Amino acid sequence: MARYTPMIEQYLSIKEQAEDTLLFFRLGDFYEMFFEDAVTAAKELEITLTGRDGGVGERIPMCGVPYHSAESYIQRLIEKGYKVAICEQVEDPSQAKGIVKREIVRIVTPGTIMDGKTVQEKSNNYIAGVVSVAEQFGLAFCDVTTGEFFVSIASAQSVWDELQQFQPAEVVVPAAEGYETLSGQIRDRLGCLLTNGLPGTHTEAKALTLLQEHFQLLSLESIGLGGFSQAVMAAGMLLAYLESTQKRNLQHLKKPLLLTRESHLAIDNFSRRNLELTETIREKSRQGSLLWLLDKTVTAMGGRLLKKWVERPLAVRAEIERRLQAVEELVNELLLREDLRQMLQEVYDLERLMGRVAYGSANGRDLLAIAASLSVLPDLRERLSNANSPLLQEIGQAIREMKEIVHLIQRAITDEPPVGIRDGGLIRDGFDEHLDKLKQASREGKQWIAQLEQQEREKTGIRSLKVGFNKVFGYYLEVTKSNAHLVPDSYERKQTLANGERFITPELKEKEALILEAQDKMVDLEYELFLQVRDQVAAVLPDIQRAAEAIAHIDVLQSLASVAVERRFTKPVITDSDRLVIEEGRHPVVEAVLKRETFVPNDTLLDCGANQIALITGPNMAGKSTYMRQVALIVIMAQMGSFVPAKRAEIGIVDRVFTRIGASDDLAGGQSTFMVEMVELANILHHATKNSLIILDEIGRGTSTFDGISIAQSVVEFLHQSSAVGAKTLFATHYHELTELAERLPGVTNYSTHVQEKGDSIVFLRKIIPQPADRSYGIQVAKLAGLPDAVLQRAKEILHVLENGQTAVKEAAAAKLPRQTGETTSPQLSLFDQPHPVVTELQSLNLLNMTPLEALTTLHRLQQMV
Ligand code: ADP
Repeated sequence: MARYTPMIEQYLSIKEQAEDTLLFFRLGDFYEMFFEDAVTAAKELEITLTGRDGGVGERIPMCGVPYHSAESYIQRLIEKGYKVAICEQVEDPSQAKGIVKREIVRIVTPGTIMDGKTVQEKSNNYIAGVVSVAEQFGLAFCDVTTGEFFVSIASAQSVWDELQQFQPAEVVVPAAEGYETLSGQIRDRLGCLLTNGLPGTHTEAKALTLLQEHFQLLSLESIGLGGFSQAVMAAGMLLAYLESTQKRNLQHLKKPLLLTRESHLAIDNFSRRNLELTETIREKSRQGSLLWLLDKTVTAMGGRLLKKWVERPLAVRAEIERRLQAVEELVNELLLREDLRQMLQEVYDLERLMGRVAYGSANGRDLLAIAASLSVLPDLRERLSNANSPLLQEIGQAIREMKEIVHLIQRAITDEPPVGIRDGGLIRDGFDEHLDKLKQASREGKQWIAQLEQQEREKTGIRSLKVGFNKVFGYYLEVTKSNAHLVPDSYERKQTLANGERFITPELKEKEALILEAQDKMVDLEYELFLQVRDQVAAVLPDIQRAAEAIAHIDVLQSLASVAVERRFTKPVITDSDRLVIEEGRHPVVEAVLKRETFVPNDTLLDCGANQIALITGPNMAGKSTYMRQVALIVIMAQMGSFVPAKRAEIGIVDRVFTRIGASDDLAGGQSTFMVEMVELANILHHATKNSLIILDEIGRGTSTFDGISIAQSVVEFLHQSSAVGAKTLFATHYHELTELAERLPGVTNYSTHVQEKGDSIVFLRKIIPQPADRSYGIQVAKLAGLPDAVLQRAKEILHVLENGQTAVKEAAAAKLPRQTGETTSPQLSLFDQPHPVVTELQSLNLLNMTPLEALTTLHRLQQMV
C-alpha cells in the first residue's frame, strides 16, 4: 500500500495536536499549508493553491506564504475568525538526521493576537473564560497584550452585560457536558470565536493549582479570590488555555483582579449603547460618544483606562471624591497639568511593550521606547510629590525610579537599531569588550582592503584596478581585459567577464576570512547580548507594570481636567442622599457638536419623594431625549470622577442606570421593536432599586394606542410605589392622557419642553418647564420637516375637526369639498375620486376620545346614511 512521505507523516501527526487550527508548517523560507487547510487558506488569503506529491499517488493540496511576510497573512486569518498554529523547525536542518524536527511553537487566536488591526491602541483585546455552576457564572477576562487579568461572578441576568462590556474577541468554555446551550448563546449574542478549554482545567481543584503555581501564591485568599470558586474556575481554565496556546512563560499576566458589582455603578448593556458611552449607536464610531468627548489622554494606556472608567463608574463616595479632588487640583494648577502632559508625551505604550518583552518578541526599538518612557519617571515622581490631593500624591509615591534599567538600555542599544534582532547593528560600542574587539578586527580588515586598491594600483601600474565583493567569490580584484597582461603571477584568476577578469590573492583571502568570521561572531554575540539585556528588562516587569498603571492614572486624571477646563465643567458634590440636583445642566456631547445654535441649559430635581418621577411631554424634536440623556450622563460622569457640564450639581450616589430610549436596532436578532422594548422594560422593572436612575422614552409606542397608554400608565404606577421600585425616573411620553397622573400620584411631576408659537410656525426654546405640554404641535413639526404644503393644510383641517369633537363630524366631510373647486388648493389631491361621506367620516373619527356608547351611536347614524 502507498504511504505518505515521512514529511507528510510528520505534518499529519503535528496537525493532530491542533485540529481546530490552520497549521502553518515551516519548510525552509515558507510556511506551507496542506490538505483542507490549504484549500481554506488559499481561498481566504487569495493565494494560489498548488499541489505536492505526498507519496500516495494523488497530489496533496498545498499553498504557502513566505516566512518574512507571514505576520500579515496570520493577522488576516485571525480577523476572519480562524486560529493559526505556527509550526517551526526546531533543529538546525544541516545537523538533522533524516527529517528536521518540528514543533508547534504558538497558536495565535483572535483572543491572543499581539499585533494587527484588531489590536487597537486605545482599546483592549480580551479573551474570556466562562464557567457556570448552579445558576452562577464565573467570568475571567485577559488581555495578553497588556497582561491585564480580571475575574467576576455574575448571575444569569448580569452575565451578558458583563460579557458585552468586555467585548471579548474569543470566549473559552469548558469542554464538558451541559455547556451546549451556553455555547450557543455566546455564539449568537457575542458573535465571537468560541473555543473549548482543555479538559478538566475548569474543575475547582485543578484551576486552583494552576493559578497558585502560575502566580506563585500560597492561597488565593491573598488576592481576594477566596470563596469565589466560579471565578477561580474560569480564571484557571483561561490560564491553562493561554499557556497551552502561547507555549511560553506568561510572566507579564497580572494577578487576577476581582471586579465587584457593589462598588460600581452598574450600567446594563442597553444603556451603555443607548447613552453612547463608548460608541455611537448608528455609526458605531468612537467619535460622538462620551468617551470621545472626555478623551484628552496622551498615552494609549491612559486611553484604555479612561474607557474602563467610563464603562465602570464608581459607587463609593470616598473613592469618587478622591478622583474628583485630583481632577480639581489639575484643573486649578495649569502649570502642573501642562508639565504632566508634556512628560506623558514621552511615554510609549509600556503595557504592550512589556507584553512583547514577555513574549520574547521585543526588538531594539522596543527597548529604546521602554527606556524613553521610563526616563520620565523621576521627573514625574518629583512633580507629583508636591501635589496636594491624596490620589496624586499616592500615585507619585507608587512610582519607582528605574534609573538602572534605563541606563542599561541606553548603554546597550544603538540609537537607531534595526527591526530585526539577528542581523547585528543593535549593540553600542563600549558595552561589551569582546564585541568591541570583534568590531575592531572587522573594521581593520575593511580598512586594509580599502587600502589594498590603491596599493595594488601602484604596484601593478593598472590605474583602473578595483576591489569588489560578491556573495559567491567574496572579495576580489578586478582588471579590464586590456590590462590583463599587466597582472602579476601572484594573482589567481577566479572569473572571466565580458571585458574583464577577476582575481584573488592569498593575502586577500586571509583578510577576508578574518572579516567574515568576525562579522559572523559579531552578529551572534550581539544577539546574545541583546537577549541578556531583554531578560534584565523582563526581570523588572512587575515594577514597570506598576509604573505603567501610575502613568495611565495620571493621564486619565489630566484628561478629565483638561476637558473640564475646555468645556467649562464644574465639580459635582457627591452625597449619599437620594437627591439629584442639577442646575443649568448640559448634554456634553450635543453641546460640543452644535454648530450654529447655542445649547440651552436645563435644571433637574429628582428624589425619592415628591420629585420621584418627572413626566415630560412636548413635541418631537423639542429636546426631551437630549434632556434625559444629559441627566444620565451627568450622573455617570460625576461617579467616574469627572467634572460635569452644569453650573452646579449635587449627585446622590446612584447604584444603577437604566434606560429605555428610542428604537432599538436589535431587529437582526429576529425580535420586533415592540418585543425588544418590552424585554428591556421587564429588565428595568425587575432590577431597579430605590437608588437607581431610570430613563424611559416613549414607552408603549410600538403597539396600538390603547395598549400603549395602558402599559405606560401602569409602568408609571408601578415605579411610583416605593414598595415595588421607587426609583428616580425621567419619563418622556407623547400620551397626554398620562399628565393627569400628576394629580393622583404625589411623586409624579409634569414637565414639558417649552415651545413658542409664531403665527403658523413654532420655535423650540429647548427649555424644560414644570407644566404639561398643552398640545403636541405635530403638524408644526411636520412643517419643519418639509412635508408638502397641501398635506399640511389638509392635516390642519382634519385636526381642527377632530379637536372640535364628534359634533363637527359633518364639517369634516365638508372640509374636503374645496378640493372639487380645485385650482387654489393642491392639484395632486384632485387626482382621486371624491370618497363617500361615510368613508370620510369613518376615517376622521377619533376613537380615542369616544366611549363605547358614543361609538355605537355613531355607527348607527353612519349606517343610516348609506
Ligand atoms: P425629542 O426627544 O424631544 O424628539 P431631541 O432630544 O432628539 O428631541 O432633540 C432634537 C434636537 O434638538 C437635538 O438633536 C439637538 O440638536 C437639539 N437640542 C436638544 N436639546 C437642546 C438644547 N437644550 N439646546 C440646544 N439644542 C438642543
